[in-house]
Amino acid sequence: MLAGVLGLTMDYQLTVSALLRRAETLHAAGEVVSRQPDGSIARTTYGAVAVRARKLAVALQHLGIARGDRVATFGWNHGEHLEAYFGVPAFGGVLHTLNVRLHADELAYIATHAGDRAVIVDAALLPALEAFRKRAPFEHVIVVGGEAPAGTIAYEELLAAADDTAFVEPELDEREAAACCYTSGTTGAPKGVLYSHRCLVLHTLSVATVDSLAIAEREVVLPVVPMFHANAWGLPYAAAMAGAKLVLPAARLDPASLLELLASERVTISAGVPTVYLALLQALDAAPGVHDLGALHTLVIGGSAAPPALIEGFQRRHGIAVLHAWGMTELSPIGTIGRVPAALAGASEAERFRYRARQGRPVPFVELRARGDDGLIPWDGSAYGELEVRGPTVSSAYTSGDGADNFTVDGWFSTGDIVTIDPDGTIEIQDRAKDLIKSGGEWISSVALENALMGHPAVAEAAVVAVADERWGERPLAVVVLRNGVTATADELRAHLEAGFARWWLPDEVVFADAIPKTATGKFKKTALRDLYRRP
Ligand code: AMP
Repeated sequence: MLAGVLGLTMDYQLTVSALLRRAETLHAAGEVVSRQPDGSIARTTYGAVAVRARKLAVALQHLGIARGDRVATFGWNHGEHLEAYFGVPAFGGVLHTLNVRLHADELAYIATHAGDRAVIVDAALLPALEAFRKRAPFEHVIVVGGEAPAGTIAYEELLAAADDTAFVEPELDEREAAACCYTSGTTGAPKGVLYSHRCLVLHTLSVATVDSLAIAEREVVLPVVPMFHANAWGLPYAAAMAGAKLVLPAARLDPASLLELLASERVTISAGVPTVYLALLQALDAAPGVHDLGALHTLVIGGSAAPPALIEGFQRRHGIAVLHAWGMTELSPIGTIGRVPAALAGASEAERFRYRARQGRPVPFVELRARGDDGLIPWDGSAYGELEVRGPTVSSAYTSGDGADNFTVDGWFSTGDIVTIDPDGTIEIQDRAKDLIKSGGEWISSVALENALMGHPAVAEAAVVAVADERWGERPLAVVVLRNGVTATADELRAHLEAGFARWWLPDEVVFADAIPKTATGKFKKTALRDLYRRP
């Protein structure tokens, strides 16, 4: 019951189609550039994407897919995936982006749990799809690019037979589901996150604002973060809303291909996880001046902590700013962004770098607080607590009622991330709750140690995990990958850490490895490392 006076504003529904209408009417000529499997470049426009998205909507409905049905994608970042981003939600379908890096068993579980009726798959990924196709509920397999084998449908033929003018836009309620994504499931089974139209539109608006990612028409945006992971951080929708040129790298994510694309398309903003940019920075340092990255002003880095050495390396040696962002699948996904506040305008460079290594302040409408053992923690920059968030882009539940204990009784989502909060609302992620190391009753942040280790010139990557210890309960162990052709001893690395940490924080053991196992979303796989280096 409404207690006040009803406002006289329109009940305009915030839908993904509204974003597309805007892109089509205002930015029809805006470019969408896709890397092709053979390395060549395909160019299209938001105008053409809109027409083809409607064709896709018509075609899927002809196949019997109805409002509320799940349509999966199994593909890299390219124009056809963008068409699905718009075409599936356009008729009320739910776009379910499957992570191509997951194991077949996990994919079978996720596709079945979601009830995916159709899948749109890259031809190059057909072998990977075959590994779980029979265990998934797909009634239709639609193949993008390349040959469509017997029993599948060629995407281009499907679209050619569809009449976009026959599309009748349903009157969608903004609270209806538009897309779906599963959490990485490092603990327990993956959980389904269901995004409403309203959530995706508000997320698009909030990440596009100037103090967030500042996605304007003049920008050229290259999401390295895959479109199968958390909506590619909302960048495809934000670029379309703004009319910014979108550059999609498909599966070519090696440093050489990315550098070539960043330079040739005059990209201004790129975004992805630290591991991608650690490799890119190494390549740039090894061959400075080969690629003209003069247009590139910002790298949005998140998904796991961006080491200060990475942030400073790009800024000092290449004049490229790193914007540190924190997010989660459950937050659509961007939660906070480390844009330096105006209050630090006159601060020293060192202080500003210190700020930029933190995860920053929440984007519009995301509210945060953190809970310690004795209740909510003060915003004093030193108390540790588990971060809780709420807002219109935050999940209210998982599908099928899974993981109900991640939601508090008073309506907040418990993130599982341990943070400190500064007086101005800036958060610093200390660890995942389960990755924190408890030594002699005191907490040690694995993230802080990793960041410091990756600041050593000989270190390419470093992960720190807890190992059981009879006396202290747990002790930190560091796994280090050295840069090609450089050496460092465990004692040298410990001496490097001693400058910034109390002695009891220093890892007792430093193990050198050729590589650190990664999750399907490019993060250090701490569970695997703990198993690998389990001590009796
Ligand atoms: P996902 O849902 O797969 O995107 O994973 C979300 C988790 O990634 C968060 O709960 C954090 O633990 C971690 N994460 C994301 N961004 C950052 C960041 N900038 N710094 C540290 N951890 C991060």
